[in-house]
Amino acid sequence: MVSEATHHVMQANKSKNTKPELKVREALRKAGLSGYRLHWKKAAGKPDICYPGRRVAIFVNGCFWHRCPHCSLPLPKSNVAFWSAKFERNVSRDERDARILVREGWTVLVVWECRLRKASFDATMAELVRQIRLSESQRPSERGRYVDVGSTAPWKLHEARRRARGRARR
Ligand SMILES: [Zn+2]
Repeated sequence: MVSEATHHVMQANKSKNTKPELKVREALRKAGLSGYRLHWKKAAGKPDICYPGRRVAIFVNGCFWHRCPHCSLPLPKSNVAFWSAKFERNVSRDERDARILVREGWTVLVVWECRLRKASFDATMAELVRQIRLSESQRPSERGRYVDVGSTAPWKLHEARRRARGRARR
């Protein structure tokens, strides 16, 4: 048994090719979206997965390290100053990288680890695939957006679909 902090440090040492990343990559391949680059150095923030040709960058974020806005996990109880400073750095780095990418016309798709749990995995991946395809159909002038994938509440999706159907009938 290791302390909570040690456990997280151990996880951080394996921060590339994490289990959630592998699951996302597998689902993308199944959707026919292979040909991605991993941790591509030429894009800001070295996105976990990216399609340079489509200018799509995908970040699979661990909720603890990147301070997921959906989970709002509590700070570790010891070394609070250390952790706050560390998280602050992580969050500002993420924000800076996303800003640069969006300005350069990339579609930035952020997938939080908690959206990849069994219950929401399929819905999250369906939205991710939809967002990638959408970016293909956009004109260069429309590009450059940031999407928190899977953050849309189910009732909102339902509303949107209902509205879309209503429009289609007219
Ligand atoms: Zn989360």
